[in-house]
Amino acid sequence: MKKHNYSAGPCILPQEVFDKSAQAILNFNDSGLSLLEISHRSKDFVAVMDEARSLALELLGLEGKGYQALFLSGGASLEFLMVPYNLMKENGKAAYLDTGTWASGAIKEAKLFGETVVVASSKEQNYNHIPKGYTVPTDADYFHCTSNNTIFGTQMKDFPSLEMPIVCDMSSDIFSRVIDFSKFDIIYAGAQKNMGPAGTTLVVIKEEILGKTARVIPSMLDYAKHIKAESMYNTPPVFPVYASLLTLQWLKNLGGIAAIEKINNAKAALIYAEIDRNPLFKGASAIEDRSIMNATFLLNDEAHAATFDALWKAAGISGLPGHRSVGGYRASMYNALPLESVQVLVDIMKELESKV
Ligand code: PMP
Repeated sequence: MKKHNYSAGPCILPQEVFDKSAQAILNFNDSGLSLLEISHRSKDFVAVMDEARSLALELLGLEGKGYQALFLSGGASLEFLMVPYNLMKENGKAAYLDTGTWASGAIKEAKLFGETVVVASSKEQNYNHIPKGYTVPTDADYFHCTSNNTIFGTQMKDFPSLEMPIVCDMSSDIFSRVIDFSKFDIIYAGAQKNMGPAGTTLVVIKEEILGKTARVIPSMLDYAKHIKAESMYNTPPVFPVYASLLTLQWLKNLGGIAAIEKINNAKAALIYAEIDRNPLFKGASAIEDRSIMNATFLLNDEAHAATFDALWKAAGISGLPGHRSVGGYRASMYNALPLESVQVLVDIMKELESKV
């Protein structure tokens, strides 16, 4: 039976990525060797790393603009501390927008390094919207925000223009919509949503912002060292990087971010229209801040939960329950999820309405 995978991450990837990466484990580039048993310094793997780094920049429209792309380990969570380590001056200050669990995780780490100003927070409303109209202190060393709040289903539609480095955690919406990525000085994203399997994090850095603090940075946490070593300061996670390259190639062949954005908008429009039309359901986040990646929604009457759950499970849908901090349901519609899967879910929601 065909599966419709709404998992929030790790999540659905293009089928051709699974096929080609499986083949590379068995026989990489017709070498008679597995991708997993060759040196990361071999010509074949260096070519993978080089192409993945340049293709990431190309898709983001950042080639030739002073940016470097790295594929690091430690998850997006390690970036929560690498960012202040590399950007916050001794006795410096950082400004953060608190839009959810992951944003507040980043704030917690920044506080280990110095004064961390939370410019606005929607925590009191269980992060159901993106705060607006906030002021960022002009003497901050950088501003940090989270473009898409995976758990709560909210997404930033606008980003401030500031005279300081802007850092953005794009873990759950990178490569999904057209943005002027050159507004940002550091973009980071755990691979396991729109890019590849868990195990690597894409970090895109405008090189000129580094080296401005007096801090001594441990080597593995120093962006400059990773850049100098061309993302091979230590043994990189070869499989996640290779599978990420395959996903980036898939996206390029599809027409890049502009092409996938159209499909993502169509998927989001379809599900949100049904959430708003169907009297049994309601959306969990503010309409103007709704995420095109993660649609969070609730039943108006929990008494229908057992029937609804049985219906979507029988239709081959998986990964639909919401995060425990929101409850209800979360339809994660990452780049590789086809529109057809959203139609299956919408049909189930209609079927529930006809049954109760
Ligand atoms: N930021 C966001 C927006 C996330 O969704 C996640 C994980 N889902 C993280 C950070 C943490 O990523 P990791 O597990 O790779 O550390």
